[in-house]
Amino acid sequence: MKTENRRSALLGRKRYKRKDVSKEKTAALGIDDLFALKTSDDNHFYAVHERYFSDDKVACPACGSTKTRCSKVVKRNFKDILWDKPSGKDEEEKKFRVVDLTFYQRYLRCDGCNNSVFPEPIDFGDKGCRYTNRLSDDLADGTFRFSYKKVCDYYGVPASTASIGPIMRRRIQYRESLLLPVSTPQRLGIMEVVFFRESRPIVYALRDDGVYCLDILEDSPEETVLTFLRTLDTNEVDTVFIDPVESIRSAAATAFPGANIVVSDECLLRYARNAMLEIIHSDGKRFPVKFKDAALTMQDKHLQSDFERQQIKDGMESRPRLKSAYERHQAFMELLSGDWKTEDLEKWVDALPDDLPGFDPLVDVIDLFKQEISGYLELEEKPPDFYPTALQAVCEAFRGMPHCIFDVLRARCFLTIAYDTIEENGEKYRLGIHTTRLTQKMNEISNNIKEAREYGL
Ligand SMILES: [Zn+2]
Repeated sequence: MKTENRRSALLGRKRYKRKDVSKEKTAALGIDDLFALKTSDDNHFYAVHERYFSDDKVACPACGSTKTRCSKVVKRNFKDILWDKPSGKDEEEKKFRVVDLTFYQRYLRCDGCNNSVFPEPIDFGDKGCRYTNRLSDDLADGTFRFSYKKVCDYYGVPASTASIGPIMRRRIQYRESLLLPVSTPQRLGIMEVVFFRESRPIVYALRDDGVYCLDILEDSPEETVLTFLRTLDTNEVDTVFIDPVESIRSAAATAFPGANIVVSDECLLRYARNAMLEIIHSDGKRFPVKFKDAALTMQDKHLQSDFERQQIKDGMESRPRLKSAYERHQAFMELLSGDWKTEDLEKWVDALPDDLPGFDPLVDVIDLFKQEISGYLELEEKPPDFYPTALQAVCEAFRGMPHCIFDVLRARCFLTIAYDTIEENGEKYRLGIHTTRLTQKMNEISNNIKEAREYGL
């Protein structure tokens, strides 16, 4: 390859002549600005840029001078995709072919600013990517709904983990550019969901007819959260429901200085439930109840039968720590289902035995976020009944998603699923994605991936 490159460099631009260009192959390739050369192999295209044959000078990107000349030609190999034009009769059935594309890219030397050497600009393939942009986009679109490996198998290209990042990034940027501006809600929320041990904040709007998710953020440092919050209208937000995380509190306070920043009972109950689940997983092995996570975290009065109640009692006998955690959790849920004050939470904390460190995060919240909890109690309008259920469904949908890198996770949830929109003063805005649709679509994607469903178009 080296020798060939040098030879072509020595031959300069005249290695190929116009008569070497194949009209048919150029048309079949169909990439603007590229001329395909005559070859006998139908599945391998060799191409040069159309300016290869013209006298047009490429301007130097450093100084703008057009005193540039070819210094070498570098062979770049891409995988590319060709789609058959629909024949008209059967438009449903689209056919494609993955082909090799070798592009002779010229490197130019600028005489205007000495020694500056640069490749001629192209727009069908990104730097460092071995797929053409159009193939890359097809792969990315598939990966929004299926596993990357499945999609690559379908197209017959290698599924290297190194290639997924650049492929997705390009498509994500494009999809992001299509997003409408957010319609700022009066009631905003930031909740952390756990995705493979990483906490990812989700920003949502609480509206009269449901919870609408706006975006998922990579992590919780103040800067990341603040960057998102600054895209909203400061004056519109009057209440922010936060998860008790210092960086989230301070980002919310900075972005919305006039708003009530509160920690709701939904959040306290979620923290209590997570603590209880942790203890169930450590102390409740082989617990004699079906669906023990659900059975042991719901209020006793909502259990299906006395039989189940008895089973729980029996199971607790040999598990004293689990029993004590269960009782404290039940007491907490009972407390929050009635009228309560922050002092009641403190009494609950005081009655907590020392051997249940699983509840420590909740104890810290009660201690450190007193003001936000009081703020919640003072709210004139409390969140509607659907609120805790909607948020729990979101947490569970994330728990069910197979592992993937953050960019893919975000793209699958927030750049693929349609947004609900609203028109204000003749402009369209996005409300977010209603949790019912978000969780339903997320569960569909999870199933596509888990059941290794066949990928089709
Ligand atoms: Zn220059």
